[in-house]
Amino acid sequence: MLIIGAGFAGLAALAGFDGTGVKVTLVDRHNYTTFQPLLYQVATAGLDAGDVAFSARQLVRHRPWAEFTTGEVVGIDWSRKEALLSDGRALAFDFLILAAGAVTNYFGVSGAEENSLAIYTLEDALEVRARLYSQLEAADSNPTDGALTFVVVGGGATGVEMAGALAELLHASLERDYPHLRPSFARVLLVERQDGLLGAFDESLGRYTVKELSRRGVEVRLGESVKEIRPGEVQLGSGEVVKACLIVWGAGVAASPLGAKIDAELTRAGRIVVADDLRFGGRPDAFAVGDIAAAPMAPGGEIAPQLAQPAIQAGAHAAKQILRLIEGKETEAFHYRDKGTMATIGRHAAVAQLNWGIDLRGAPAWIAWLALHLVTLLGMRNRLAVLVNWAWRYLSWWRGPRLIVGAETGRSAAPTRAQE
Ligand SMILES: Cc1cc2nc3c(=O)[nH]c(=O)nc-3n(C[C@H](O)[C@H](O)[C@H](O)COP(=O)(O)OP(=O)(O)OC[C@H]3O[C@@H](n4cnc5c(N)ncnc54)[C@H](O)[C@@H]3O)c2cc1C
Repeated sequence: MLIIGAGFAGLAALAGFDGTGVKVTLVDRHNYTTFQPLLYQVATAGLDAGDVAFSARQLVRHRPWAEFTTGEVVGIDWSRKEALLSDGRALAFDFLILAAGAVTNYFGVSGAEENSLAIYTLEDALEVRARLYSQLEAADSNPTDGALTFVVVGGGATGVEMAGALAELLHASLERDYPHLRPSFARVLLVERQDGLLGAFDESLGRYTVKELSRRGVEVRLGESVKEIRPGEVQLGSGEVVKACLIVWGAGVAASPLGAKIDAELTRAGRIVVADDLRFGGRPDAFAVGDIAAAPMAPGGEIAPQLAQPAIQAGAHAAKQILRLIEGKETEAFHYRDKGTMATIGRHAAVAQLNWGIDLRGAPAWIAWLALHLVTLLGMRNRLAVLVNWAWRYLSWWRGPRLIVGAETGRSAAPTRAQE
């Protein structure tokens, strides 16, 4: 039994084999699993990288029937039933659960990949943090009005959370840590192509989000597209060119390119087409789950969104179906149970669209958001670390690790001020 990907879907699948005696191999290109919903807090120095990642070795330590290996899967030999790794190894399987997630989608916008920073992986988040603090350091030694313009592209949950956190960070840091800078030197611009924010939520929650972000100093540009990104500047669809010291791309995700390398049928968005029971390609032994798959929420129903809950539920479902097949039983169709969606804006402000038509906003949604993220984090150490960090930050406005490390990746999201 092989699981490719130690994200939300892969780990839910792994847990599905607890106590069953089935031998499982888990492979991931990283030796850790990442809690993506809190990456923006790493990027804005609210949390440390280790708080939102969990060692994959630790996941199998108390599961003697499971083993983990670090490796990049580059293909599958279906005739030999082996997953092929980039280092030349091959991992044999009788059943396969493919849970390789998604990648950043730049929607073909010219220069976006080269000249903006995404926050999809832990490396991305650390790079944003390093770049952000490099810009603050440079501006402090040469303060100029308007030098600190931050552009966030995409008004979904990722863009909203990033813009809100940036506004909060600048408000807290500029006054306390950088004596030569004033809040008026900084500008956070959130650009969204649609006419509202948080398109997946009820319209009234989107309007509330615009109001709250604006109140916190974020300039929200709705109905505005990004035409091109060049080093240190964004060209908007309206023709306006915005000079920016940091450009964060949070406009969307595309399914992992692995789907295109393994002889699978793909949707237009690149997700693997799966049957009602989540198997794909007409194969009796291969399941695709999470962001990489286009799983119907119920037979004949709409495709589940690329979010944590559908990934977790689909991973658990695939494991259950494999156990049924081992017992000689028929598989069952996947039925997604929508538990709601949430996004946070900043201190005391969040939106939550829960089951049974209940919408929350403001402080109650914020508290619900904090509690949910705390309980869904992996590992007691991480939960405690995040709880302490949040409590301390709430009381003191203190920010976490503001370290500039390992920022030189060669990408030119913006020229540093020294280069300008
Ligand atoms: C910044 C951000 C914020 C988000 N916020 C929320 C939120 O608030 N609420 C919510 O519900 N959802 C949120 N999401 C979406 C949610 O994180 C994803 O839907 C979820 O992680 C999907 O789970 P998955 O298991 O399919 O993929 P992932 O969790 O991405 O896991 C995929 C795993 O596969 C590994 N992998 C990929 N390719 C290979 C390969 N070729 N070989 C080996 N390993 C490979 C990766 O390293 C990764 O560990 C957010 C996503 C991002 C990026």
